[in-house]
Amino acid sequence: MNSTTYDKKPESRTGFNKFPIRLLAVIAFSIFFSETLVMVIFTLLPPFSSKLIEALVDSTALIALLSPILYYFMFRPLLLHISERRQTEDALRMVKIELEDRVIERTTEFKLANEQLTAWARELEQHNRENKLLSEMVDFLQTSLTAEESYPIITQFASKLFPNDSGALYIFRASRNLLELTTAWGDALPEEPGFHPDDCWALRRGQPHIVIDNSIGVRCQHIKNKLLPYICMPMMAHGETLGVLHLVLNSYDAAKGIEHLEAKQRLLSGMAEHIGLAVANLKLRETLRSLSIRDPLTGLFNRRYMEESLEREQYRSERNNIPLGIIMIDIDHFKRFNDTFGHDAGDTILRAFGALLQKMIRGFDIACRYGGEEFCVILSGASLEVTLKRAEQLREAVKQMQVQYEQPLSAITLSLGVAVFPQHGSTSQDVLQAADSALYRAKKDGRDRVCTAEEIILSDTKDRLEE
Ligand code: GH3
Ligand code: MG
Ligand code: MG
Repeated sequence: MNSTTYDKKPESRTGFNKFPIRLLAVIAFSIFFSETLVMVIFTLLPPFSSKLIEALVDSTALIALLSPILYYFMFRPLLLHISERRQTEDALRMVKIELEDRVIERTTEFKLANEQLTAWARELEQHNRENKLLSEMVDFLQTSLTAEESYPIITQFASKLFPNDSGALYIFRASRNLLELTTAWGDALPEEPGFHPDDCWALRRGQPHIVIDNSIGVRCQHIKNKLLPYICMPMMAHGETLGVLHLVLNSYDAAKGIEHLEAKQRLLSGMAEHIGLAVANLKLRETLRSLSIRDPLTGLFNRRYMEESLEREQYRSERNNIPLGIIMIDIDHFKRFNDTFGHDAGDTILRAFGALLQKMIRGFDIACRYGGEEFCVILSGASLEVTLKRAEQLREAVKQMQVQYEQPLSAITLSLGVAVFPQHGSTSQDVLQAADSALYRAKKDGRDRVCTAEEIILSDTKDRLEE
């Protein structure tokens, strides 16, 4: 409030600028009053002596003449005092009003500041909670061993970070022509298991894509729900786009303002960044691991991995008291095959056989390339009968395998040796040896056949008995 308004002397109210006029008015009034009074007395009272009348007229004139002096020295100071008091009172009233206004103003300001502070504190608290969750998620992701293991972790933390929304994580397939749905959370679960990269504006433009209002935003093709607002956040790591983090804003409330949406976008962006890095690292780790345990030509496990696994499987077999079947495989006359069709054709056959082998075993069995054209399969929990049956199936299947390399290649045959732990050896290495001996026996007996360690034991016993 402008205080200068109240500093002005309200002279017009007191009227002291009109002092001479007042003075003259007072003189005139005094003369008029005293003369009138004398005339009234003169008229009303019984006649007095002329001396008395003269004395009265003189005294009245004297009073009239003395009135201004009386006014100036007696009434004027009094009036001035009253006027000053009024002035002070006015000034005090105005100061009071001003102070009251200021108090109201300050109280409102304080209230607003307090509300703002409370909002900030709440925001800060929310921010801290989100940061804590994010860092916890990163911690879990960093200790995950595979990308698959990380997906349930992402789901769990995403539902905590966006409790009222739904979302999904899409990751590029190795071929990069499709994004696969890896995990999803919330009520509005995605209907599509995957989509083409061109169906997402976030991927096409390389930046977050937000659609709040259908009449303004361009919706991505992969979004089947045409009503709910959403954000598609591209996921980058080491300069490569890994996928898209998609958030359906079930709880979007336009009344909460743009800040609310920006806060969600910020959080989603932070989450996409962390997930992107974690997934990229896990993929890299998987590639390195795969390189160290896989045979590059066939994609099967290598010999080193098989030997490690064999020890582990023996331990598991002993603990659970279950058998462990082993099949040793050797392609017959492979050298001849190479000589006829060339080394590259031989490689093609090895690759095709690797794929067939992988297809014909259960997920938890281990197929490996032992070396050259030799392979080994470890069948956890398989008895001699089951292992033998699987070996026969393989022998038959490989004969039906049709492979083309510049020309149709002739079919290959296999020699297979079967042994089972603990039936044919007290250690897995002994059993592997027994399977190898059975394979040798199959070769000796004419190839394209399966021989078991059992048969060797029986024939050895028979030989000994004959001797
Ligand atoms: P057998 O029936 O007695 O097993 O005869 P074989 O010719 O299969 O056995 P041999 O051990 O004499 O020869 C194995 C051949 O396998 C020799 C080698 O050229 C071929 N070989 C080993 N590794 C590879 C490979 O990675 N690619 C190709 N194309 N051939 C391979
Ligand atoms: Mg061989
Ligand atoms: Mg061979």
